[in-house]
Amino acid sequence: MKNTAYFQCISKCGEKYNLDQVIYRCKNCNSLLEVFHDITALKEKSAESWKSEFAARYRSVDFPDDSGVWSKKEWVLPEIENEHIVSMGEGYTYLYKSEKLDSLFNQDLRVKLCGNSHTGSFKDLGMTVLVSQVNSMIKRGKPVKAIACASTGDTSAALAAYAAKADIPCVILLPKNKISLAQLIQPVANNALVLSLNTDFDGCMEIVQKLTLEKEIYLANSMNSLRIEGQKTVGIEVIQQLNWQVPDWFIIPGGNLGNVSALGRGISLLYDLGLIQKKPRIAVAQTQKANPLYLAYKNGFENFKPVKAGQTLASAIQIGNPVSIDKAVNTLKEFNGIVEQASEDELSNAAGLADKSGLFTDPHTGVALAALLKLKNQNIITKDESVVVISTANGLKFADFKVKYHESSLDDVTVKHQNKPLELDSEIDEVRKAVFENF
Ligand SMILES: *Cc1c(COP(=O)(O)O)cnc(C)c1O
Ligand SMILES: [Zn+2]
Repeated sequence: MKNTAYFQCISKCGEKYNLDQVIYRCKNCNSLLEVFHDITALKEKSAESWKSEFAARYRSVDFPDDSGVWSKKEWVLPEIENEHIVSMGEGYTYLYKSEKLDSLFNQDLRVKLCGNSHTGSFKDLGMTVLVSQVNSMIKRGKPVKAIACASTGDTSAALAAYAAKADIPCVILLPKNKISLAQLIQPVANNALVLSLNTDFDGCMEIVQKLTLEKEIYLANSMNSLRIEGQKTVGIEVIQQLNWQVPDWFIIPGGNLGNVSALGRGISLLYDLGLIQKKPRIAVAQTQKANPLYLAYKNGFENFKPVKAGQTLASAIQIGNPVSIDKAVNTLKEFNGIVEQASEDELSNAAGLADKSGLFTDPHTGVALAALLKLKNQNIITKDESVVVISTANGLKFADFKVKYHESSLDDVTVKHQNKPLELDSEIDEVRKAVFENF
C-alpha cells in the first residue's frame, strides 16, 4: 500500500486537501488543518521493525538520515523527493541527565536540549519540513514567490536560515523592541526582508494572515500544520533515546501552542503504531504575563478568552491569542494534561537553579522548570515519577537575561542563585585568599 499524507480538517467536517494546496484553514468550517497519515499503510511494518529501522538510521552520516526529523521521513512527509529536502541536520539533540540536576530538583529529571540546533531553537524541527515542501512546490513549477511569518524571534530565525539555504525569498514581521538582540540579528544576517512593526506578536500575526491571503506569499507560522509534522519528532526522539520507555511526564512551555500539539501527535503515532503501550501525561507551562491557556484550563476549558500579553522575560511566549488553542485543548484532553503558570521571579530562579548543573537555561525553559517545582509542591508530580522537560531554546540567545540575573538587576525578581564575578587586583595573595576562602 502506498504511504500518503494529506491535510485534513481537525473538526468533525474532516475535509481533506492535497499537501500542494496553499491552505491553512478548512474552506468549509474555518478550523485548523492537520497533516494526516495513512495509519494502515504505516502498520504494514511491525512496531519492532520500525524500532530497528530507526535504530539503524540513528545519527547516520547519510542524507537525509543525518537529520533527526528526516530519519523519520515516512512519518513526516513520505512523498517528498530527497533532492527537495532542505535540512541542516536538525534534531538528534542531547537528552540531558545528571545526578546534580536530579538532586537540585529532587526529581528523576531529563532536559531535552532542542536549543542545540542550527538557529538555536526547536523551531528548526518544523521549519525544515515547511521549507522543504515549499521548495518542492517551487521546483515543480508552483507559483510561490516568498515565504512569510510573524515571529516572537525564533520562528523568524529558523525561517530566514532555511529559506536562505534553499534560495527562497522570505519576509519576517517582528514586534518592535520585543525580541532579543540575537534573535533580531539572525534574520537580518540571513538577508531576509525584516519588517519591525510597532505592535505586539498578536498584531504581527493578524497582519501576516492578511498578507498571505495572496497565495504567492506562503505562510510559515505554526497554524501551517506542515511545521507540526517536523516538531512532532521531538517526543518520538525522546522516547527513542529512552530505549522506548515512556516517562511519566513531559513539561513544555507554551505560547502559540503549536508545539504542545506537535508533542502530542508524535507520541500518539508511537502509540497507534504499537511502539509504546502507555501514554505520558503532559503539562503546559505558561508565563503568568501571558496565560490564556492556564485561565481556560482553570475554567475546565468551558470558554476560551484571549488576553492582552504583558511584558515578560519569556518573550517567545508573550502571546495572548494563541492560534493553535483548539489543537492544544485536544492534546491536553488526550494526555490527561494540566497547565501551570510561572511568575518572572519563579522562572528566573528555576533557570538559575538548573544552570548550577551545567545547563545554560533560556527563560522559556525556566518557565517549564518553575512549573515542575510548583507541581511538585502541590504533589501533582510525585518524587518517584520521571519527568522530561522540553528545553525550547539555547540560553545564548538570552545572554542579557543571564547577565541581569547574576547582577540582580531584573525587575520583580529576588535572585536566589546569584554568582557575581569577584573583581580583584592582579596580586597572587588576593587571588589565593579568594580561592581558599571559597573551598
Ligand atoms: C516558539 C517558542 C515557544 C512556544 O512554542 P509554541 O508552539 O508557540 O507554543 C517556546 N519557547 C521558545 C524558545 C520558542 O521559540
Ligand atoms: Zn472543516
